[in-house]
Amino acid sequence: MRIYLDHNATTPVDPAAAEAMSHALTGLFGNPSSVHYFGQQAKAALDEARTAVAALIGGEPSEIVFTSGGTEADNFAIRGVAETLEATARRQLITSAIEHEAVLNTLKALARRGWRTTILPVDATGIVSADALRNAVTDETALVSIMHANNEIGTIQPVAELAEIAHSRGALFHTDAVQTAGKIPMNVRALGVDLLALSAHKFYGPKGVGALWIRRGARLVPVLTGGRHERNRRAGTENTAGIVGMGVAARHALATMPSEGPRLAALRDRLENKILGAVQRTEVNGARDARVPNTTNISFERVEAESLLIALDLEGVAVSTGSACSSGTLEPSHVLRAMGLSPGRTQSSIRFSLGSANMEEQIDYVASILPNIVSKLRSLSPAGART
Ligand code: PLP
Repeated sequence: MRIYLDHNATTPVDPAAAEAMSHALTGLFGNPSSVHYFGQQAKAALDEARTAVAALIGGEPSEIVFTSGGTEADNFAIRGVAETLEATARRQLITSAIEHEAVLNTLKALARRGWRTTILPVDATGIVSADALRNAVTDETALVSIMHANNEIGTIQPVAELAEIAHSRGALFHTDAVQTAGKIPMNVRALGVDLLALSAHKFYGPKGVGALWIRRGARLVPVLTGGRHERNRRAGTENTAGIVGMGVAARHALATMPSEGPRLAALRDRLENKILGAVQRTEVNGARDARVPNTTNISFERVEAESLLIALDLEGVAVSTGSACSSGTLEPSHVLRAMGLSPGRTQSSIRFSLGSANMEEQIDYVASILPNIVSKLRSLSPAGART
């Protein structure tokens, strides 16, 4: 038996999305820019997907630019704004300490080119304080980029309030919504953001395709230059099959969210309560209320997280020690560190992220095998010396 509890890393492709992609690969091979029948068939499929993705976030289809994923969408938002405002007095970029590397490393790259960057702290639950942003933002701020929810702990940020603060000083606001799109209902107008990044493979679409929502009227210099694709905003022949898959997944997510969200939250809470009840010296990391429904991050005192991950994998259970990008590096999580957790706690934390295939029996099975695994590891682990 294999139990997959790593949906924040990626999700299995929805069968309907896979089928639509398979049809698109062979049946919609025309270049969407071509004026003939074959091209127009492909273009119509892109438009249908654009409508579905826009509906998922409450935007207009014309505001959606398809990209190669969340990383490119974040890069496009940040670098696009930076290039637009490069010659102005707005030369500061603000983000938070718990962003995904797609944002943090993009700001680092821009800092090397002379941009002033400010990294806001978070509190012990992983929330960015509105006051911290109010103190940091100035008339020289070009962009504030704060993620909608964090991939490791699931904490949801008060994006609407933060966006309003950024706007009060004339700055633009970008949010990385890769971990919320398809998981919680959202509306770009209600959030009040200017730019929003999403990625298909986090909501049962294919990998390598995503989108940036750009509020109508927001100016952004393209990062990829070339042809006039995507209304002149992102050059390169579109990934028709991937985009079609993203569209089907977006429509499915929008339809199932009202029932799937509460179902996952109940399963997640069941898992969390069982673990906290049955395993001594465990704690939940991050906010428990303002959280995406599928995620829990738990520290197991005096247990090396990597050892627990491997022990669970041997039992057929797939979890994660943090973001997929940094797992395997044994680098302590920058997210948990920013929350002020001790080195011992950051190195003993496991993320369980649930998804559509998970059922109660699986959750109960995982909770039932954990106490033994943990006590065995505690009796063997040298991690005790560090906590
Ligand atoms: N932003 C967040 C919060 C993520 O969790 C991820 C994926 O792990 C990304 C961005 C990058 O998205 P992609 O894998 O589509 O490049």
